[in-house]
Amino acid sequence: MRLVIKGGRIISPGDRIDYVGDILIENSRIKRVSRRPIDIKDALVVRPAVAKAMADKPGFTRRSSSEVGKSSKKADEIVLDAKGLVVAPGFIDIHVHFREPGREDAETIETGMKAAAAGGFTSVMTMPNTYPVNDTQSTTLFILQKAANIGLTHVFPAGAITRGMKGRTLAAIGEMAEAGIVAITDDGHCVMDGTIMRRALEYASDFGVRVVSHSEDTTLSAGGVMHEGFVSTRLGLPPIPQQAETVMVYRDISLSGLTGIPIHIAHVSTRESVELIRRAKDAGIKVTAEVTPHHLTLTDEAVEESDYDTSTKVNPPLRTQDDVDALIEGLLDGTIDAIATDHAPHTTTDKEQDYVAAPFGIVGLESAVPVCLDRVCAKRQVPLELLIQKFTTGPADALGLKKGRLAKGDVADITILDPAKDVTIDPAKFYSMGRNCPFGGWSLVGAPVCTIASGQIKTIDGRLV
Ligand SMILES: [Zn+2]
Repeated sequence: MRLVIKGGRIISPGDRIDYVGDILIENSRIKRVSRRPIDIKDALVVRPAVAKAMADKPGFTRRSSSEVGKSSKKADEIVLDAKGLVVAPGFIDIHVHFREPGREDAETIETGMKAAAAGGFTSVMTMPNTYPVNDTQSTTLFILQKAANIGLTHVFPAGAITRGMKGRTLAAIGEMAEAGIVAITDDGHCVMDGTIMRRALEYASDFGVRVVSHSEDTTLSAGGVMHEGFVSTRLGLPPIPQQAETVMVYRDISLSGLTGIPIHIAHVSTRESVELIRRAKDAGIKVTAEVTPHHLTLTDEAVEESDYDTSTKVNPPLRTQDDVDALIEGLLDGTIDAIATDHAPHTTTDKEQDYVAAPFGIVGLESAVPVCLDRVCAKRQVPLELLIQKFTTGPADALGLKKGRLAKGDVADITILDPAKDVTIDPAKFYSMGRNCPFGGWSLVGAPVCTIASGQIKTIDGRLV
């Protein structure tokens, strides 16, 4: 199968490419990226914007040319007309919670992968807080096997740091690494014991996986449901001080400095965290960090404005405008390496409880890219090339994944964006089983219009083909 993506603005920060040109994909791999036109004679020319027509075209079902009948056009040779569109390496989300095994009523690996592809992502890293926790080789293999059978996107599982994510003894890190985890984390919980965290860094380094820190001093955050500030006081909701995060960010940076081993800080949400990470990077400590679309665009005011909608209940909590501004500054100056959704689906029954009782977490895979294109690029003047970097080489390099570029021979993962497309976020239409999204009803400009993974077109205009 040959596929040419033609005439789009190719932006690949990891390859220092930003020009209008063509990409040739052959046998699932990048064959050529070029300013010069690449032509395939007699190939079928299709436009990603026409979703229904696309799905009906031969080629997308990978029929052989003989089945197409008399048409001289070859079904296994497609030219995708990308004029006016932006063509980037496949987007990577290094922080998603698919609920399988154990809570298939909230999300399965399949629905999660569909949501990822629809949202423009070709690779995701799944968090280990399933039932059972991914703390053994068998659970890791189960996830990888299941994902391989579905085949929509690449799935990189993270394993737990501690057994059962209970924070007491290290999990079978070596065995899981052998099975294919790329990182360890107790995300959702913090490893409160500093010595265990130090050992985790040392073991991770021995086995060639990264450590992701959910930085939260739970002795400070215990019982809290939203950011501690004027709004929590006015609403009378139990608060979480920002220090619950920064105290642990500091500890983990410090342990990284002590051991010389890299650490990745998940979902940074406060100005002070950004400043700590910036100083650590300046000092040569190997710390990387991610931020979520919701922390970049919403504040604690959303809790009040939404009338206690539990889709605003997230951990770490939505902060203040000053924190949002600091996160944007962190993106701009490179302190923050990646944007990751922390996609956390919950059943409607679970989320319909009152604000204090409802679980933390919101879904993000199918809203992240439009939210960032509109509210981060357009409204906050973050350059598009920089945003693409935060979805490609930023996350890939933070976790040591061989993804995020368009080098010859790479597996052809591509995300095509239409920066001018009008979209309205409608959670009812999500492939994700989660409806707990704070962006429902938002009208935004810019969206992913085509996701290509391993050289195959997976989604057009947010729908599976
Ligand atoms: Zn977390």
